[in-house]
Amino acid sequence: MVNSNQLQIHLCKFCYDRNFSKKKISLVKYSVSVSIVKTRIQVCYICRNFFLGTLPSIVKGILNSELFGSTKCVPTVDIGTRIPFIFYENEDYIRSMFQIKGAIGIKTQINLLIREKLRKNKKCFIDHINPELKFDVVINNDLDFTVNCKAKEFYLLGRYVKLARDIHQREKSWMKNDSQTSFELIDKREKSIEQSIRKSVMSEYHPEEIKITWTGSEDRHSLVLGTGRPFFVKVINPKVKGTDGKKVSEGSVDLQFRKIKQDQIDYYGKYRVLVTVLVGLDEKVNNIGHFQYLIKSLIGEVTFKFKNRITKRNIYFAKLVNAEEDKLEISLDMDNGIPIKQLIGGNEPINPCLSSILKTKCECIYFDINDVILNK
Ligand SMILES: [Zn+2]
Repeated sequence: MVNSNQLQIHLCKFCYDRNFSKKKISLVKYSVSVSIVKTRIQVCYICRNFFLGTLPSIVKGILNSELFGSTKCVPTVDIGTRIPFIFYENEDYIRSMFQIKGAIGIKTQINLLIREKLRKNKKCFIDHINPELKFDVVINNDLDFTVNCKAKEFYLLGRYVKLARDIHQREKSWMKNDSQTSFELIDKREKSIEQSIRKSVMSEYHPEEIKITWTGSEDRHSLVLGTGRPFFVKVINPKVKGTDGKKVSEGSVDLQFRKIKQDQIDYYGKYRVLVTVLVGLDEKVNNIGHFQYLIKSLIGEVTFKFKNRITKRNIYFAKLVNAEEDKLEISLDMDNGIPIKQLIGGNEPINPCLSSILKTKCECIYFDINDVILNK
C-alpha cells in the first residue's frame, strides 16, 4: 500500500538508467515522500513505455525499407527523430526535482538506439553530413509514428540505340506535364526516346523526379546504332534502391543505363560519332573522282557558332561512299556536336562546309549515327 504522502514514480529501465545511476532513489518534497521505481510492468512516467513498446516497431520499419536493397552495397545513413513534447516535459520535471545535470536527453538516447540497431543489422555507417539515406521518424503524442525516408539523388549514364526512323528524341513540352504519373497516357503519344527513358527509370527507382541531360541530338529521321548515344539522368529522391544497371528494349529503342558518380559525367559527355550522311545535290554528279578528292578536305578543324559562341570541333575522317544521280553518301568520323545539316548545306555560317567545297548547293537528306566512340 502506498499512503497519501508517498508518491511512487515508475520509470522503464531506459529512462531510469539514463537519469539515475543509483539503485534506489527517493526524496521528500512538500512533505511527500517521492521514490523512483524501476519497473517492467507499470507505465513509464517519462516515455509511456515508448522504448519497450514502440521503438522496436520503428527499428523494424526502417530495417525493412526497400531503399536498402541487396546487402552487397550498404548505404550510409542518418536518422532524425521528432518526439512528443510531453517526453521532454516529463523528463525535465524529474530532472529538476532530483537536480540531475549532464545526463543525455531522451531524444539523444532514442537516436543512439536506432543507429546502433542499424549498424548491427545492416552493417551500415552513420553519416550526419551527406548520408545516402536519411530517415525522419515522427512520433505522435499517442505514440503512433511515421517513418519517412529521403534518399540522396544519384546519376545514371545511359545509352540509347534507335533502330527505326521517325522517333523524336525529346518529348514536346506539353507532353511532359503528366509524364510522371500516367504511363497509359504516355503510350498513346508520339513515340520518343525521352518517353522510353522516363518509363524505364521511373519504374526502376520510383523517384520523385528525374532530370535528363542530353549529350547532343539527331534528327527524328536519324538512326542511332552501335553502342548508342550517351545521356545522363539525375534521379531525385528514389523510393526504391533498384538495380545498379539495366538493359531495356522497347520496340525500336534499346536503352541501357547504369549508376555512375557525378564526377564521371564529364568523361562520358565527350565522344566521337561515326556518321553516314545522304546528301542531295542541285546537279547530277559528273566527276566522282574529283568529288572524292574534294570531300577529304572536310577533315580538320570545323568552326561554327553555337549558342552565340565560336565553337571548334574536329573531323577525323571523311569519305565519299556512294554516288548516284544527284545524291552522295558520305561517311564521317567527327567530334560530337558538329551540326551536320549546317556542315552539308551551310545555310548558317560554318567552316568548312560541303556546299562551298563542292561548289554546288548541297542538302542533308538524312544522316544516321553508326557508332559512338568515347574519348579515351
Ligand atoms: Zn521510459
